[in-house]
Amino acid sequence: MLSVSDARTRILANFAPVETVKLSTARLAGRVLAGDITAKTDFPLFDNSSVDGFALRISDINGAKQSCPRTLKVTADIRAGTYSDRPIQSGQCARIMTGAPLPPGADGVVMVEYTDFNERPAGSPAPEAVAVFKPLQPGENVRRRGDDLHAGDKVLCSGTRLRAQEVGLLAMLGLPEAPVHRLPKVALLSSGDELLPVEAPLTPGKIHDANSYILAALSESTGVELTRLGVASDSEADVRSKLKRAVEEKVDIIISSAGVSVGAFDYVKSVVEADGELDFWKVNMRPGKPLAFGKYLGIPFFGLPGNPVSAYVGFEVFIRPALEQLSGQTPHPHPSQKARLAEAIESDGRESYLRAIVTEEHGYPTARLTGHQGSGNLLSLVQSNALLIVPSGVKSLPANTEVQIWRIE
Ligand code: AMP
Ligand code: MG
Repeated sequence: MLSVSDARTRILANFAPVETVKLSTARLAGRVLAGDITAKTDFPLFDNSSVDGFALRISDINGAKQSCPRTLKVTADIRAGTYSDRPIQSGQCARIMTGAPLPPGADGVVMVEYTDFNERPAGSPAPEAVAVFKPLQPGENVRRRGDDLHAGDKVLCSGTRLRAQEVGLLAMLGLPEAPVHRLPKVALLSSGDELLPVEAPLTPGKIHDANSYILAALSESTGVELTRLGVASDSEADVRSKLKRAVEEKVDIIISSAGVSVGAFDYVKSVVEADGELDFWKVNMRPGKPLAFGKYLGIPFFGLPGNPVSAYVGFEVFIRPALEQLSGQTPHPHPSQKARLAEAIESDGRESYLRAIVTEEHGYPTARLTGHQGSGNLLSLVQSNALLIVPSGVKSLPANTEVQIWRIE
């Protein structure tokens, strides 16, 4: 049977980044950059003060102290957003606010707290003279042009998903728009006669559709545009008509759950096989062995298992990297680390992704399973903070073995 890593390689060969659009900076949060960003100017663009105080010549206040202040004449008042080109001569200074440009001739800024002009109410006019109580080091309280970055520096790489700080950087650099990938269009389908939407009261034999909510939340966490195809009944005609809607909507990927196993009414697999191509439908993993991948009328198609935990694991192992690649993101491996097993565990030789709680014990991450691992037991996934990976071919692991885990917080 196909290994997890071979299945992933076969899947990823089908995904290239979607097209690029230009978006205004106000709309960039969560989008994926489609080109490197290079700074056009230095930042800061001009030498400026990092404090509210007085810009002066450091040599004028050598040896200043509370008992022996140096008094300077205030010859300019430089508020943020203004500038003064009048040079500071020896014995002179300029009142200056944080972020305002350093005047010519000055080589340091003393904080207002170290002068006799401390604690004045807002709006106080600049004094005619000020007494300074403390000497300064060269360049103290001055942010020099280019301290943070230089014109020509590459500051963001293509493939970066833009968070608040990256969007802020683009604004700081004065870029009103940036090239990003459009959002991939994802269609979600649940299937099974037993499924009712969450609003509907249960009747005998029915359950609520949980998977489409799980898969919507997971898909949205990677940045996508969702089309919900709803629930297909266990009939070829309904499965086909729902999948055709995905084609009409020109989605980039179809994610379906259930109906790909060996049940008498598992029509999803047979419809994809009849109308498109099925690449594979079984992977040597646990949970989630019945996992189909192929194309439905040219659109990449995932048929996840019906059990909610299997659908979740299948998404994390295969669909998240595919969506990252489709959206133009540089792939992020799952946040992975080593942990020590608190207890012995059994497996069945398939590559297993078990729900676990990892805590710090004696300075080392220690993993315990969250109760029974039935793949319908969604509560145990809620209670876990990691997936514990048992490699394929391994059937038992004694306590204290070091294992690989994926954090899922
Ligand atoms: P199947 O793959 O159709 O054999 O389904 C396997 C199990 O998953 C069955 O117990 C289904 O009732 C359950 N199941 C299928 N789809 C969903 C869903 N959307 N939400 C919750 N459970 C589901
Ligand atoms: Mg079913």
